[in-house]
Amino acid sequence: MTVVAIFAVILLWSANYYSAFKYATCHASVVFAFASPRAGRMRKIMGHYCNICGRYRPNEKFTVKGHRNHICKDCAKMPKEEQEAIEHEEEIFNYLQQSNISQKNISRLKKLADSGDSKIAELAGIVLEVAQVKPHKKRRLKILAKERRDLLKKLEETGLIVAHGGF
Ligand SMILES: [Zn+2]
Repeated sequence: MTVVAIFAVILLWSANYYSAFKYATCHASVVFAFASPRAGRMRKIMGHYCNICGRYRPNEKFTVKGHRNHICKDCAKMPKEEQEAIEHEEEIFNYLQQSNISQKNISRLKKLADSGDSKIAELAGIVLEVAQVKPHKKRRLKILAKERRDLLKKLEETGLIVAHGGF
C-alpha cells in the first residue's frame, strides 16, 4: 500500500516536473518569438549609421551612394572638406583605441599629418609621435608619463587621451 502511495507521489512529482519543463520551454519560445521581431524592430528604429554625424538614421535619409559610404543626406550637403575633416578626426582617435598602431597605420598617419587642415595635421602628428614612442597600447601612458611628459600633455590638451582610455 505504502509502495503504491510512494509511486503515486513520484508519478505526480515527475508529472509536475514535466509540465514545469514544458511550461519553461514554451515560455522560452514565447520569449524568443517576442525577442526576434523586436530585434528586427530595433534595427528598423536604429536604421543606418552615418559616419559623419554619428547617428543611426532611417534608411530614407540615405541615398544609394550615401548608404554605401555611410553618409546621410544632410551630411552629404556639407562641404567635402568638412566631411573629410570629421572622418579623419574619427580615424585618428580610433588609432589610439587600437591595441597596436601598425606600420600601415603609421604611414597613414604620416599622410594625415601633412593634411591641409591644421587641426587634422596636429592630431595626426601627435598620434604619430605616440606611435613612434610606443606603438602598443599596453603601458603606453605610463611610459609617456615617465619619458614624454610633453606628449602626454598634448594628448590631454587635445582630448585624444579620452580615446586612449585609462592607464
Ligand atoms: Zn549624417
